Amino acid sequence: MTTPVHRLRKHPGAECEVTVTARCMDGGCTWEAEPEPADRAVGCEWHAAATGHRTFAVCLEYIAVVTGEG
Ligand SMILES: [Zn+2]
Repeated sequence: MTTPVHRLRKHPGAECEVTVTARCMDGGCTWEAEPEPADRAVGCEWHAAATGHRTFAVCLEYIAVVTGEG
């Protein structure tokens, strides 16, 4: 197996911020956060404070770019 020449990286553009989506993993709870920029994603804290639920599935989404030869 050869080392890939191409690499997937987070896009360096300043406009490409990380978006956080989260949903509650506590029992049958169906709470889900709106997608928000990572620095403002406080939905989980509010939900935990209101319900006592502590476990969340968190998904980070960002723009990536492949760099390399060719
Ligand atoms: Zn919950």
